[in-house]
Amino acid sequence: MKPIATPSRTKEILEKHQLYTKKNYGQNFLIEPSVVEKIARSAIQTENTLAIEIGPGIGALTQYLCEYAKKVVAFEIDERLPEVLEDTLAAYPHVEIRLQDFLTTNIIEVVENFKKEGYDVVVAANLPYYITTPILFKLFESRAPIDTITVMMQKEVADRFRASTCSKDYNALSVITQYMCHVKHIMHVPSRVFLPKPCVDSAVLQFSFKENRDLVEDEQAFFAMVKACFKQKRKTMLNNYGAYIGDKQKAKQLLVKAGIAENARAESLSLEQFLTLYHVEQGSV
Ligand code: SAM
Repeated sequence: MKPIATPSRTKEILEKHQLYTKKNYGQNFLIEPSVVEKIARSAIQTENTLAIEIGPGIGALTQYLCEYAKKVVAFEIDERLPEVLEDTLAAYPHVEIRLQDFLTTNIIEVVENFKKEGYDVVVAANLPYYITTPILFKLFESRAPIDTITVMMQKEVADRFRASTCSKDYNALSVITQYMCHVKHIMHVPSRVFLPKPCVDSAVLQFSFKENRDLVEDEQAFFAMVKACFKQKRKTMLNNYGAYIGDKQKAKQLLVKAGIAENARAESLSLEQFLTLYHVEQGSV
């Protein structure tokens, strides 16, 4: 197998197909085979895996997914690319390219159909950076039966997804993500392994859904509360949470009942403390 993810092969493919990379689609192609190999190996854990890829580009990661997975289905938005992929992935009959904006796919239907066919379903991608969070939240909120989601993103964004209480990156995104998923750091990826080279480094994270996710009845209400508590970084819980429920006196009582100091800041609260506050507010404890 001749890897696509090398500087010379990538340039050769771009020249052959008279292709230029499109910035508005977040096209930074991987040119280091050991990185794509590690993503594919981390994503595919069973012999019966169907890998869904978001944004195959010219096939750098797709090729390695094809090496390890039973079937690969890749969603690509750029209409110039299916023809290129037909050429670069000609050796792999078990890959299917769907020319479609991933954000408009009915992901539950897609995943459930593959599950019915008996596959273990995983998602793997070098995500287009401009829509990392919308793509991940589409997957998280779908609750589709996906085993793992192994994705590359900007290092700064990855740091927020996996941040722990009191760290400088801990924010509402960290709490909400960690409510829904286990988050595992797979690797750091320097900017020099992309063409064109972006300004920032990247990281690969692996998400898997938590089984006890039914802890709150109304997830959207819980997420809104968490976001409100982080709204003004320097303000105390009494201020942020008080503004959210629109009654400072009541906020004070609820915080006391939840065992949270009124002068605490959201960044010092654990996921469990946010859950306690939510349940106190709902009158359920
Ligand atoms: N997987 C390739 C690699 O690692 O070299 C390309 C990764 S590149 C960072 C992101 C890819 O996502 C591009 O091919 C881009 O065209 C595609 N893309 C961007 N927005 C998309 C969307 N909404 N749906 C599907 N693919 C998208």
